[in-house]
Amino acid sequence: MKYPIIAYGDPVLRKKATPIVPDEYPHIKQLVEDMFETMYGAHGVGLAAPQIGLSMRLFVVDCSVFDDEEPELANFKRAFINAQILEETGEEWGFNEGCLSIPEIREDVYRKPTVKISYYDVDWKHHEETISGMAARVIQHEYDHIEGKLFTDKLSPLRKRLIQKKLSDISKGSVKVDYKMRFPDAKKGR
Ligand SMILES: [Zn+2]
Repeated sequence: MKYPIIAYGDPVLRKKATPIVPDEYPHIKQLVEDMFETMYGAHGVGLAAPQIGLSMRLFVVDCSVFDDEEPELANFKRAFINAQILEETGEEWGFNEGCLSIPEIREDVYRKPTVKISYYDVDWKHHEETISGMAARVIQHEYDHIEGKLFTDKLSPLRKRLIQKKLSDISKGSVKVDYKMRFPDAKKGR
């Protein structure tokens, strides 16, 4: 099942998401499957639970599109439950990022290249790993979502001012997207 994606401006995207308790969430596998379906339907490489309106510490990523430059990413498809970034290291590098909740805006964002992360998979197996490159970047972007942060927060005051109008248009629903979205400030009847 595909969920509508929550657009910029919705308060759920600004909430620090809560950890998932296994017993309280027996349907996690189905949810993860639906999140992948939603993400692929929107041609995304990552999707966090707040982006479908659920304030839970869960995100999914599929970095296989980057396997031209980083062949080891060919099978990098994972769900991260209750993730904690333990450490970010290296010299910050810029990459032109986008976000399914903020369509038609792409901006250079600077992040450190390596993350050490602890998380659970859908079988509630614990992992602690160090990840670098594009996968680290996608993880950092999605991790920000479960912390209530967006990539636009990281822009310079000037860039922020330049995209302000576009952002408010997005929250009103005046943006063209080819996937289903829910807009916080859309007029009734849209
Ligand atoms: Zn995003």
